[in-house]
Amino acid sequence: MNEKSNSLFLSFGTDYYTEDFPLQQILKYSGLRYNSKLSKLGKYVSTEFLEALDFIDHYGKPYLEYWNTLGERIDHVRISPEHRRILDVLFSYGIVRNVITGDEDWLYHFLSGYIISDSGIFCTVTLTMQTAYALNKFGDNIVREKYLSRYLSEEKPWMGATFYTELQGGSDLGSNTTKAELVDGEWFINGPDKYFASNAGLADGAIVTAKPVPEKPGAKGISIFFVPAYLDNGVHNYRIRRLKNKIGTVAVPTGEVEMEDSVGFLLGKPAEGIYGAMDILMISRLDNAFAALGISRKALWEAFLYANSRKSFGSNIIEHPLLRRDFLEMEADLEGSTILSVKAAEAFNRSANDHFPYSEEYHYARILTHISKNMTANLSDRITRYSMEIFGGIGFLEEFPIAKFHRDAIVTPIWEGTSNIQALEMYETIVKKKSDRKLLETIRKLVNGFSKEIGVSMKLLSRTDDLEKRIKELAAMGDDAQYYLKNLLDELGHLFSSALLFDLHVHSTEEDRERTRIIAEIYYIRNISHGEIPVELLNSAKPLEWMINSR
Ligand SMILES: Cc1cc2nc3c(=O)[nH]c(=O)nc-3n(C[C@H](O)[C@H](O)[C@H](O)COP(=O)(O)OP(=O)(O)OC[C@H]3O[C@@H](n4cnc5c(N)ncnc54)[C@H](O)[C@@H]3O)c2cc1C
Repeated sequence: MNEKSNSLFLSFGTDYYTEDFPLQQILKYSGLRYNSKLSKLGKYVSTEFLEALDFIDHYGKPYLEYWNTLGERIDHVRISPEHRRILDVLFSYGIVRNVITGDEDWLYHFLSGYIISDSGIFCTVTLTMQTAYALNKFGDNIVREKYLSRYLSEEKPWMGATFYTELQGGSDLGSNTTKAELVDGEWFINGPDKYFASNAGLADGAIVTAKPVPEKPGAKGISIFFVPAYLDNGVHNYRIRRLKNKIGTVAVPTGEVEMEDSVGFLLGKPAEGIYGAMDILMISRLDNAFAALGISRKALWEAFLYANSRKSFGSNIIEHPLLRRDFLEMEADLEGSTILSVKAAEAFNRSANDHFPYSEEYHYARILTHISKNMTANLSDRITRYSMEIFGGIGFLEEFPIAKFHRDAIVTPIWEGTSNIQALEMYETIVKKKSDRKLLETIRKLVNGFSKEIGVSMKLLSRTDDLEKRIKELAAMGDDAQYYLKNLLDELGHLFSSALLFDLHVHSTEEDRERTRIIAEIYYIRNISHGEIPVELLNSAKPLEWMINSR
């Protein structure tokens, strides 16, 4: 072990922002400035934070207290003082507040997700970001003054939540049965089954989907409300029935919430609620993508350090060709997903102030968000699982952190809309908003820009034409098109990632050219041409050596 290691994490003490060489390359390529606050965060999350989170995960679960000493129902979630402190530290970075005030852009928030990555604790941040965004974007002046100000406070900022899912459905939001009634100018929310309510018991208020009466059928009947956890007189505004017993994301409590005459504040126009709800979901989907990437990076980094010290058959296991190839493939896929997700985040950053009926840029951000959410979630499932295998038998033990990465990764394809839902919603933006046009146009522009330098450019252009044709064929198939939508979701993603990786290569410095070429070619062969990767690429140490050199 080297001097930076502790007994649990081989990458202990690493600056997960600055020392992440491929991330820095991608950020530079995207014209994003180096942010020293993220570097400080990068160091924090690889030291004290790592140890504390590992402890919370195993021994410090949040728990629900129902009653106070006076016998009054409080439904308060208790967390350890250490857990509270970590949250205070994370919020002190302004990863919510500064984005709303405009002191930082959205990339600052999303990159913090990559760096923090723990999907439990970052879920608390995500839900708070969504709540602040919704209050800021859809709240009237009174709501903004009374509640948004609490979320922007530097002293004990409020935390948020989003209660969309109900017992009868999470994917099918139109099946929501929670009702909202306007009585003497005040909205009252009633519904017994907000069935997955993360951060409930910690949150000071939540964004809640409900149907104003008289109800309109389906998703168009939904409106969004801000529901504070407590009323001004201190009375609890909703009940928490119980907390779920989860296999991962332990640091965030996930409850079942019952609303009975809970006071709510309407956000935006009632008839545009579903559009607002989807808009708010973009944040958690992109956060999910960045957290999934961050978890994958940490798991891969840990596994690579382990592979450089564990021996079998007389050499470090990293020397074995099979393992070498696995690492190179995972590295290429991870970099491809990262560069695409940065483009999705940039598109969201450009359109975050749009309102209904929304601009072309917003729909471009939507299609990229669906692609990125799906791609990164599936990748993190795969990389974290295989990282466990690289640790051999000890990868399967709860004593070491590698298993936690996987437990935290496997929720990422489920929440914020499963992979099927991402495919369906992506297709909806294509059919209704022609979101594919800008994506295909962007890919063509990139490829045309580097066509003279990259041998496979014509193949990338012809693949773009094929996908355009495929989208037209699907449009003529009616509901049967659904059978093929996950392929389309993957294929559009791989094509864009591949074009971006080649473009990164063309724009990289002389020193980085070899490395970026190898990554782009491996990605292309794996995900576009599906051929065999030549030995020349597999023999190269360049794409991976930074993980050791930065130590
Ligand atoms: C740890 C955790 C925390 C969560 N926190 C929150 C939270 O804070 N707030 C919140 O609102 N929700 C939360 N959720 C809920 C989550 O968003 C939903 O579980 C998810 O969206 C799926 O909904 P569901 O569980 O009702 O599954 P269902 O909607 O019943 O889906 C079941 C299966 O059917 C598939 N399916 C459904 N419809 C279709 C279709 N038309 N075509 C193809 N396949 C389909 C789905 O892909 C899925 O595989 C959380 C979930 C988890 C696991």
